[in-house]
Amino acid sequence: MASIFSRIIQGELPCEKIDETDNEICFLDISPFTEGHTLVIPKREVARFEELPETEALSLMQTMQRVAKAVCKAYGGSDYNIQLNNGPDAGQEVPHVHFHIIPRPDGLRVPKLGKYADGQMAEVGARIRACLDS
Ligand code: AMP
Repeated sequence: MASIFSRIIQGELPCEKIDETDNEICFLDISPFTEGHTLVIPKREVARFEELPETEALSLMQTMQRVAKAVCKAYGGSDYNIQLNNGPDAGQEVPHVHFHIIPRPDGLRVPKLGKYADGQMAEVGARIRACLDS
């Protein structure tokens, strides 16, 4: 689905570009959580991570590692979060898959929801394993 990111990829809208490959573009988030917050985006127009062809998902991971190293180095070895909001219920606002690399010099912790009930962890594990492609 075409989104604002398609227009950035096509050069119709400006961005602060960090890196570009045949398959990806990486640029600074316009509304950063922290300084250096960078988006890593496949050029293919898909909304969700699992819609990417496997080779392009691998390529995305390679580019993400390369850019994450640079972000980390640029911020004096800062720790960072890598975040994917995959779908609107997960907080995705732009319907074009993108990973966030967010430097975290602050040390703040995101609060956790809680614990699994007895037996629930095994059920959840089985449910996800049953959906793995062989
Ligand atoms: P998400 O909630 O995961 O869909 O994140 C979308 C991100 O895109 C937000 O963090 C926005 O600040 C960012 N964003 C939206 N428009 C632009 C833009 N034109 N340039 C850079 N980042 C943008």
